[in-house]
Amino acid sequence: MNLQHWLGRANDAIQEWADTFGPYERHPSLLVEDDRFAAAFEEFTGRLKDNYPFFHPHYAGQMLKPPHPAAVVGYLTTMLINPNNHALDGGPATARMEREAVARLATMFGYDTHLGHLTTSGTIANLEALFVARELHPGRGVAYSADAHYTHGRMCHVLGVKGHPIPTDDRGRISLDALEDVLRTGEVGTVVLTAGTTGLGAVDPIHDALAIRDRYGVRLHIDAAYGGFFTLLAGADGPEGLPPEPWRAIARCDSIVVDPHKHGLQPYGCGAVLFRDPEVGRFYLHDSPYTYFTSSELHLGEISLECSRAGASAAALWLTFQLLPPTPDGLGRVLGAGRRAALRWSELISASDALELYQEPELDIVGCFPVVEPGTLTAVDAASARVLADGMADPDPVFLSTLRADREAFTARHPKIDADADGARILRSVLMKPESEHYVERLHDRVERLTRSL
Ligand SMILES: *Cc1c(COP(=O)(O)O)cnc(C)c1O
Repeated sequence: MNLQHWLGRANDAIQEWADTFGPYERHPSLLVEDDRFAAAFEEFTGRLKDNYPFFHPHYAGQMLKPPHPAAVVGYLTTMLINPNNHALDGGPATARMEREAVARLATMFGYDTHLGHLTTSGTIANLEALFVARELHPGRGVAYSADAHYTHGRMCHVLGVKGHPIPTDDRGRISLDALEDVLRTGEVGTVVLTAGTTGLGAVDPIHDALAIRDRYGVRLHIDAAYGGFFTLLAGADGPEGLPPEPWRAIARCDSIVVDPHKHGLQPYGCGAVLFRDPEVGRFYLHDSPYTYFTSSELHLGEISLECSRAGASAAALWLTFQLLPPTPDGLGRVLGAGRRAALRWSELISASDALELYQEPELDIVGCFPVVEPGTLTAVDAASARVLADGMADPDPVFLSTLRADREAFTARHPKIDADADGARILRSVLMKPESEHYVERLHDRVERLTRSL
């Protein structure tokens, strides 16, 4: 797809539609001369250069990459109209696209009934799921693993419910024994399980938690903001295939959050929350004196805590799904490449005497640390920080990120390291671009060389 061509077509298509409403005059207060715009634009694009090259395979740091061109064209075309998906009055076309895109997400997870909508982020999507959980279990708290996203602890505070962090095992997954100890107190009404932690991509044992749900009468909420689309690799043939059990169990859980702006090829501003029981819509119901005039159909604003939301965001997701649907043969192929890259890199790290794997990657996030003398947490921390900084400063740069591992987590995996500090930073790489598959050898060489030259 040639972006230049399709952005021109976008402008034409919207103009053609606009012309059917007859001519009108633009107000002079809005006019901007081209030469003034040119000057502002030059300064603007100059300032945008202060960025990391998220698009390039030598950027292997955080969860960042540009959206697919189809999403860009979908977003920009729709933005020329600027519908608001709060209500059907604000944009019937994109409200319907949102319903269809959300239904595809529900199908991807195996939900046979659902109520759901897009949100501006995973944070808001999780807030909504926890809000509904609180309404259903008033006075009871929320449990989540110590490696769950920090938003859960924070949103418990916002919602006025008690948060219960639960210890993790030596792979970063929630300990079900520790969870049961807390559930026995009867204080917890909802358990958050993470399908792909933000730090290392660990997948909680969702299938084993189903029995616990039944035993203690709790809700299960799945935070799959990062990992949700990996359900497309569950049981797949080939090295990228994932153990299917936790992913298949998601269909039996009460709510799910997934971020199309992470692994769904979308620009920021696209999260999603899904509930298995459509009846929970009753907790949102409200009357707006301003909207809901054009249709007796349910308006998205009636089932969402946010009011205004970009219709463009739904349009971008819908258009992307027409081309790269959330199926094993569609988006699954994109995720499979990153997964194979992570497996290949972890093999190279395991064979290296300069680097040590922190733990086996479950998804596409690789954690490792430099082999150092003396083997102490303090030395590991300093070496990781140096590799990060030297990599970015190099004329042929490589961009990684670091993750702070606390003492207990580190020594559970690497008992030989002397725990002389509270924890240590390790190197962390999110290989979420399919291009990483053909670049990972170079990436490894670069990081190995940076480590040797410490
Ligand atoms: C990214 C992430 C979030 C937060 O989502 P945002 O879209 O950044 O607001 C929550 N949970 C997990 C597991 C995540 O990876």
